[in-house]
Amino acid sequence: MSGPDRSTIWPYRDGEPGEFYYARYGHPAGVEAERALGELERGEALLFASGTAASTAAVLALLAPGKTIALAEGCYYGTSVLFRELEPWGIRFVEFDQTGPPPDQADLVWLEAPSNPFLTFPDLEAASRHPAPVLVDSTASTPILFRPLEHGADVVLHSATKYLGGHHDALVGALVFGSAKTAGRVKEFRGRTGAIAAPDLAWLVLRGLKTLEARVRRQSESALELARRLAEHPAVERVRYPGLGDPLAERYMEGGFGGLLSFDVRGNARRVETSTRTIVNATSLGGTTSLIESRRRWEGDRVPENLVRLSVGLEDVEELWADLDRALRA
Ligand code: PLP
Repeated sequence: MSGPDRSTIWPYRDGEPGEFYYARYGHPAGVEAERALGELERGEALLFASGTAASTAAVLALLAPGKTIALAEGCYYGTSVLFRELEPWGIRFVEFDQTGPPPDQADLVWLEAPSNPFLTFPDLEAASRHPAPVLVDSTASTPILFRPLEHGADVVLHSATKYLGGHHDALVGALVFGSAKTAGRVKEFRGRTGAIAAPDLAWLVLRGLKTLEARVRRQSESALELARRLAEHPAVERVRYPGLGDPLAERYMEGGFGGLLSFDVRGNARRVETSTRTIVNATSLGGTTSLIESRRRWEGDRVPENLVRLSVGLEDVEELWADLDRALRA
């Protein structure tokens, strides 16, 4: 395959626009990738220029000034930063513990499965009893392990920059809707605000989806093994991973617990993150290469100083363990 159709225009036929006419409203690679992701999530998918562009579109298209978002505490830091940025436009947010019911005063419930970097899993049953629509940021689960629309959620969000793209070379996002009507409304909003993913990015999502299941299964297996070993390591105080007995994750996730974990070290997190060799000291997650970083540098007091986040890639698990063990003993 040589790449996508990069046209921004398609000629009218007999003076009438066809399915594609101007790329801001839709293009062939986008539609193909949206169909593939929609099949996986069992809903109607739309691609955006980034996960954050998808979040912005969800908030602005589904809410209005004066509305309140109930946001899972401890979820991706950038989501709360974005919501703070939107406050002057009249949208408020309150944080709550997603392992229990959302607060009554909410017009949109925003969960993360599992949360990055604390790895808590939301109670979907409690959330779906709330009258407000429920959005689940399922970036770290992927539709291979968890499909929120099958558990009462209304919207699924992905930073496709992570597992869906999978190779640390595509900044792209997605929303998936249970309702075709809502998808249509948000698609209209996307065309008007210009937040669509470019054809090359849609094409990279399609490429990523071809290997998604194989990658996620192997990353989950390796992560579980590393989480178990880390929990026994004398230099580790605490491991945060849904596969270590989280009843909510056990209820909702199928066939694995994902490739993302965090652990709190005894001692200096910076020493650990700068001592690995195979595992790259960089931000982000979900790609073929394992990444490690202390989250304190980005999130401040919100995270323990000794918390280290690890995104497990496709390297041999014994090589990863040797690398971690060496860094922890450094
Ligand atoms: N959601 C989660 C869980 C993330 O980890 C990220 C990025 O780190 C985002 C959303 C935002 O996605 P993007 O960086 O593609 O804008």
